[in-house]
Amino acid sequence: MRKLLATLITSTVLFSPVAVSAATVFPLDRATILVSSPFDVKVEFDGVVAEGDVSVTVNGQPAAEVLGKSFTFIEKEDGVDASAVRINEVTLPSPGTYTVVAKAGSEEKTVTWEVYGTPEAPVAKNVIFLVADGLSVAHRTAARIMSKGMSEGKANGRLNMDDLDYAAFIGTSSTESVATDSANTMSAYMTGHKTAVNALGVYADRTADPMDDPKVETLAEALRRQTGKSVGVVTTSELQDATPAAVFAHTRRRAEKAEINNHIFDLKPEVMLGGGSAYFLPQSQPGSKRKDDVDHITLYKEAGYTLATSKSELETAAGTNTGKLLGLFHTGNMDTTLDREFLKKGTVDKFPEQPGLVQMTQTALDVLSRNDDGFVLIVEAANVDKMSHPLDWDRAVVDTIEFDKAIGLAREFAAKNPDTLIVATGDHTHGVSIVGTVNDEKDADSMREKVGTYAEAGFPNYEDKNGDGYPDRIDVSRRLFLAANNGPDHYETFRPKLDGPFVPAIRNEDGKYVANEAYKDVPGAVFVQGNIPTSGDTGVHAVDDVVLQASGPGAEKFKGYMEQSDVYRVIAEALALGAKQTQ
Ligand SMILES: [Zn+2]
Repeated sequence: MRKLLATLITSTVLFSPVAVSAATVFPLDRATILVSSPFDVKVEFDGVVAEGDVSVTVNGQPAAEVLGKSFTFIEKEDGVDASAVRINEVTLPSPGTYTVVAKAGSEEKTVTWEVYGTPEAPVAKNVIFLVADGLSVAHRTAARIMSKGMSEGKANGRLNMDDLDYAAFIGTSSTESVATDSANTMSAYMTGHKTAVNALGVYADRTADPMDDPKVETLAEALRRQTGKSVGVVTTSELQDATPAAVFAHTRRRAEKAEINNHIFDLKPEVMLGGGSAYFLPQSQPGSKRKDDVDHITLYKEAGYTLATSKSELETAAGTNTGKLLGLFHTGNMDTTLDREFLKKGTVDKFPEQPGLVQMTQTALDVLSRNDDGFVLIVEAANVDKMSHPLDWDRAVVDTIEFDKAIGLAREFAAKNPDTLIVATGDHTHGVSIVGTVNDEKDADSMREKVGTYAEAGFPNYEDKNGDGYPDRIDVSRRLFLAANNGPDHYETFRPKLDGPFVPAIRNEDGKYVANEAYKDVPGAVFVQGNIPTSGDTGVHAVDDVVLQASGPGAEKFKGYMEQSDVYRVIAEALALGAKQTQ
C-alpha cells in the first residue's frame, strides 16, 4: 500500500513539474466538438489575477487570432473572489486537435479539444431517437417476459428493440460525479458534450446564476443552422423536464422550467407532444407555474401551431394541421400506461383523455414526414424512470412495453423509409434486477417465503389473450419479482400496487424519509432497511452502463463501449451536420 502511494505521488509530481494552482477551462479537456458548431469559451482562475497577466493560446497562437474574437476579462466574478475570461459563440471551422493553454500569474491549465468534421453528404435523411428514461437491463427482460411469455427457458416472442441491428454500452457519468441524472445524460446525447448533474446545454460554471453558464450547441440548433429538417419531441413527462429539455435548453439548473419553456419557443420545434402545460399558461391562469404574464399557448397559435389537448383532438389535428403541432395533455407529467389504460389510477380522473406514447409517436411521424428535407424526432418514455424511483416495478415495466411499441412504429416507418436512422436507448440505469417470481400458490406462511429463486422460480403466468402486447392483468398468481439494490426504508408488499403508484417513504418531522406506514398492514409486507441517506425518498440512479441499440444508415458506428457524448457524433456524421455550407 505504502509503495503504491509513493508511486502515485511520484507520478503526480512528474505530471505537474511546477507547483501551480490550475485554472478551469470550458470546454473541458478532451471535449469533442462538431466543426463550425458555436460554443462559449470560459477560463476560471482560482484567484484574482491582473488582466495584463492573462494569456490564452490555442495551438501556440494568441486565442483571439484562432477564435476570431477577444476575451472579456472579469476581475471578480459575481459572488466569487476570483477572475475569469470569456468569449461567447466562437466556432472552429477546421477539424483538428486544438491545445488551449491558459495562464495568469502562477496559474496554468492546458486542455485539448478535438474538432471533428463529418462527411459532406448525409447517409440518413431522418433520425428517430427513442429514449426510455432510466432504462435498465431488468426493465427490458421483464417487458419481454410480461409481454411475450417464456416457456422452457426461451422467450415466446421478441420485443421490437430485440431486433435492432447494432448495440453499444454507454458510459453515463457526469463531469463532476460518477453518478448522474437525466439532465447531463440527455444533454450529452443532444450536444456531444458531457456536463454536470442538473445541467443542460452548458458547461456548469461556478457562478450562482443558472442562466449564464458557457453554452454548447444542441442537436436541434445544429439542425436549424445546417439543415431544413423538422424537429419533433414526444414525451410522457412535462415538455420542460430534463430529458426533453436537453433538446433545446441552456441552463445550469434543470428546475428552471419556465425559462426552459422560453428556450423551447426560441427554437419552435415543429411537433411537441407531452405534459407540462402549466409552464405555457400566464401566471394569472389557474394551474400556471409561470412567474410572468406571457401566454405561450397564444404565442404558439400565432406562430401557426395547431393545438391539441386530448386524445381525440390529437387525432383530428393529425389530419388537418399545417406541419406545426403542439399537444399538451397534462399540467404536469402524464400518467403511466398501467394507470391510463388499465387501472384508471394516478391522475387519470383529472386527465382522462391523455393519449399514450404510441399515438403521440405515430402522429409525430405523420406530421414530421411531410417535410421533404427530413426530420429528427426525439421520443421519451419518461415513466420508466419516474416509476423506478418509487420502486413501482409493474408501472415501470408496462411503460417499457409501451416504449417498445413506439420503437415498433419507428421500425415500420424505417421499413418504408430506409434512409432513417433509429437509435433506442436509456439515458441512465436504475439499481434493479429480476430475481425470480412471487408464487401465491406456494404453500408458505409468509409472502417472503413465497418468493421463488433458482429452480423454485419457475415461470410467471401472465397472459395476453387479447393480443394487445400487454399482460391482461399484472396481479397474476405467479409474477416476476423485481428488487432494488438501493432505496429508502420501505415495506416490500410482494404485490403490484393496484391503487396507484407506490410511495415507499414519507418525510417525518425531522425531515428524514422513513418507511410509509400505509403499506405496513398489507398482508405479508416486510420492512426493508434502506441503504441510502435518509434525505432520499426513493431509489437512486445506478452508475451501470446503458445499452444503446440502433438500426439504419450510420448505425454500424455504434459498438463496444462509448461515452454518452460520442453518440452525438454518430448522429452528426449520419446527417452530415459538419458539411460546408454553400451559400
Ligand atoms: Zn430519475
